[in-house]
Amino acid sequence: METGLRPSSAFAAFSAFLVLVLIMSAARAEDIVVSAQIGGDSQRTRFVAFVSKAVEFRIFSMADPYRIVIDMPETDIQVPGGKGRGLILSSRSGLLAPGKSRIVIDLAAPARIEKAELLPPENDLPARLVIDLARTTHKTFLASVKAPPPAPKPDESQSAAANLDTGDRRPLIVIDPGHGGIDAGAIGRATNTPEKEVTFDFCKKLASKLEATARYRIVMTRTSDVFVSLDDRAVMAVKAKADLLISIHADALDPKRLGIKALKEVRGGTIYTLSEEASDEQANVIAQNENKVDVQAGVASEQTAPVVSEEIASILNDLENRIKKNRSTAIAHYLIDHMKGKMKFNIRPQRSANFRVLKAHGVPAILIELGYLSNEDDEKLLISEEWRTTISSVLGEAVNAFMSERQAHIPL
Ligand SMILES: [Zn+2]
Repeated sequence: METGLRPSSAFAAFSAFLVLVLIMSAARAEDIVVSAQIGGDSQRTRFVAFVSKAVEFRIFSMADPYRIVIDMPETDIQVPGGKGRGLILSSRSGLLAPGKSRIVIDLAAPARIEKAELLPPENDLPARLVIDLARTTHKTFLASVKAPPPAPKPDESQSAAANLDTGDRRPLIVIDPGHGGIDAGAIGRATNTPEKEVTFDFCKKLASKLEATARYRIVMTRTSDVFVSLDDRAVMAVKAKADLLISIHADALDPKRLGIKALKEVRGGTIYTLSEEASDEQANVIAQNENKVDVQAGVASEQTAPVVSEEIASILNDLENRIKKNRSTAIAHYLIDHMKGKMKFNIRPQRSANFRVLKAHGVPAILIELGYLSNEDDEKLLISEEWRTTISSVLGEAVNAFMSERQAHIPL
C-alpha cells in the first residue's frame, strides 16, 4: 500500500484502549515529553508516534521481513519505546537523509494498513501519527508491497570535493562512523547509549588527530547523525580513490543467541578484514548483524540488495583486490601490534568476515569493533569521552606510522 495522506483533525479517532501518558516538562510544545503508545492485540493493533509538527507523510509496506515504513520531512519523532505488542514487534525513527525523517515498524505478522493519519496538535497534545493495522495473510501483504523508494543519496559534497583533482597527492583516508540516523546500531545494555553516537564521536576525534599531521586528506562518510547505506559508504571510498577505508563500530552480542555468560566474557577490540568465508562463527555473526542495517532502515530487501562489486568470490581473485586483501590484512596486523599495550583487545583480535561495507573495490579496508556494547566493562570505556580521546589518538598514531613506513619503504 502506498498512500499520500494529509493531516486530519479527527482527534476523535483515538479509541478508548489507547492510554496516553503525558508528562508536561515545559511550556513549549516541542519540549513536551510524552510516552507514545501501542494498543490492541495480534489481530488489530494501533500505533501512535508523536511528531513535533503536522506534516505530509508517505506510508508503505516492505517484505522480508514484514515492515511498515513512514517517510516525512525532517521532524522530531517519538515512537513507542520498549517492546512492541500485538502485530508490532518494535519500531524506530530517525533521519534517513538530511531533511528526511523515517519511521520503521517491524511487524510480528503480515498486516494491512487500515488507517493512517496525522493529527495536528490539539489542546495539550502534540501532533501525532496514528496507524491502525489489521492482521492479513502473507499473500495479501505481498500484494501490497511495492518496490521501496531508492535509498537517498548521501551528501556528496565531501566525496565530490575529494574527487576534484586539486593536485593534492597526499594519501586519502576515508573514516566511516558506523550507523547513523534511523540506524542506531547496537545499544549499550547498561546505559542505552547507541552505537552510532560512540562511533561518530570516535571518528571525529580520529579525523582531527590524522588531519593534525597534515599528511592526509580525510573524508568522513557522514558528518552528522544521518543514515548512509553500507553500499554508499563503500562507493564513497571507491569514488574518492581512497588509500584506506577505516570503518568504526562497537557492536553487541545477542544474549538470546549466545547466553548472558558470553556477554560477560566476550570483550575487547577486534580488527576485521573482508573475506568470503568468516574466520570463525563469532566474526560471521558480527558481519551478519552489520550487514542487515540497510534492511532494518527500510532501504533494501535481503534478496534484492545490490552489491558494490558483483561477486565477492570473483573480486577477491582479481589482481587489484588481491592487493587490497593483502594490504588490508597487513594494516590490521600492524595496528594490533602497535596498539595492543594501549588498548584492550579481544582474545582473538584479528578476524575476517563478509562485511558489506568493506567491499569497496580496490580500496584497502578494515572494520574496527572498538569493543562490545553488550559487555559491562567495555560499555564503561566506550561511553567515556576520555577513553575515546585516548584510543582515537593511539589509533591515529598507529595509522600514521603504518602509512609513513609504507610510503618510505614500499611503493604504493
Ligand atoms: Zn556496528
